[in-house]
Formats: sequence, C-alpha cells, structure tokens
Amino acid sequence: MNIIFIGAQGSGKGTQAEILAQRLRLRHIASGDLFREAISKGTPLGVQARAYINRGELVPDEITIAMILERITQDDCQMGTILDGFPRTIAQAVALDKALAEYGRAIDRVIYLKVSRDTLLQRLSSRFICRAHQHVYNLMSNPPKRAGICDIDGSELYQREDDRGEAVQKRLDIFFNETIHLLDYYGQQGKVVEVDGERPINEVSASILQALSGGLPTT
Ligand code: AMP
Repeated sequence: MNIIFIGAQGSGKGTQAEILAQRLRLRHIASGDLFREAISKGTPLGVQARAYINRGELVPDEITIAMILERITQDDCQMGTILDGFPRTIAQAVALDKALAEYGRAIDRVIYLKVSRDTLLQRLSSRFICRAHQHVYNLMSNPPKRAGICDIDGSELYQREDDRGEAVQKRLDIFFNETIHLLDYYGQQGKVVEVDGERPINEVSASILQALSGGLPTT
C-alpha cells in the first residue's frame, strides 16, 4: 500500500504518518527529514538543498524527485510507503506516478489533513524537534517530559530555522498556493480522503484508520 499525506507545515502530517506507518508496518518517508539528514551529514545533496530550505523555498523538482525515487525503490520500501512532504508540486506527482507504474505500484490513498492558517501558525511557533532523529514536540499540546530534551533518544530539542520569521509565512503561502492543487490531481483519481486535523492526535489517527479501512468518508 502506498499512501501520501498532504498537509501544511504544522498540520500534524509527520506525527500522523509515523503513527500510521507503525500500525500498517509501512515505511515512513519524509522528504524534509531526508533533506535535513543530508544537510547535517554535509553530503552534496545537503549542500545543494540547504539555502532553499533555510529561505523557506521549495528545493527544485529535479533534485527532490531524484532523492525520493532513489529512496522509495530501495528494498525496505517494497511493501509500501507512507510519503510525507512529497509530492508538493504537480510535476513531482506526475513523476511519482510514472516511476511507481514502472514497478507495478501505484498510490492507493491520499490523506489531506485540513487545518486553518491561524492554527498552523500557532502550532509552528511552539514546535521543537530533536537533533538525533527529528522527533517532533509541541510545547503547548505535546511537550517533552524534561524541558529541551527528547523523551525518546535524549537528544537536544531545537526550533527549526524555517519555522521562524518570514520563512514560515513563505512556506504556508507555497502550500496554500501550490501544493493544495495536488488535491485536484489526486481527486480526479478518486483517491483523496479529507480529515479534520484540528482535533487531538488520537482522534485524527482514528479518523484516518477508519477512512482507510472503509470507503472514503471525510472528517
Ligand atoms: P518539511 O520538513 O516537509 O517542512 O520540509 C522542509 C523543507 O524541505 C521545505 O520547506 C523545502 O525547502 C524542502 N522540501 C521538503 N520536501 C520537498 C518537496 N517535496 N519539494 C521541494 N522541497 C521540499
């Protein structure tokens, strides 16, 4: 099974994708995490992507598509993947469909986590992630047990540079002006499930599981 999560920054898609990946035993692939990992290791990919990411801009399609296709065609993704943060443009979606078809695979469902811009801004201003594995916390709704320390691996928590200042507004603009069109693209294929992402984490997860096990109900 191959599932895509679509949602703005702060919609909870990373959290929900991880929960679902564990439930369905699928590989969770987050394009932003792959880029941040490449940046922290100083690889050529990281060097190419860094400036775009810090400015809150999209990394060019050719770089992003190559990175994701390389990742999802590895052995551990053969049972299926949950894609989080990719695709973000129509060109990426078309490239993904084409590449999956070559392997006899296809996207089964696209989950859209709908959250208002006001809520997104509130959530992003209190979002912190851990240095070691990018586990996500929210100081208001999901704080760590010890301030500044990841519950899971004990590493330091920090606020992403692109979760602050102008970069946040730019990223949300890109989502609402560009990425949102993916809902039409996948809607035409009859694959979109819309879920109200403003509710508590466990309620959102329950709605997603319900939507995947049945037809295509919303919220
Ligand atoms: P995220 O953690 O998903 O918010 O991604 C962080 C940053 O990585 C984004 O603001 C972009 O600069 C870059 N990025 C992640 N995924 C993509 C994508 N599918 N296309 C282009 N850039 C991306």
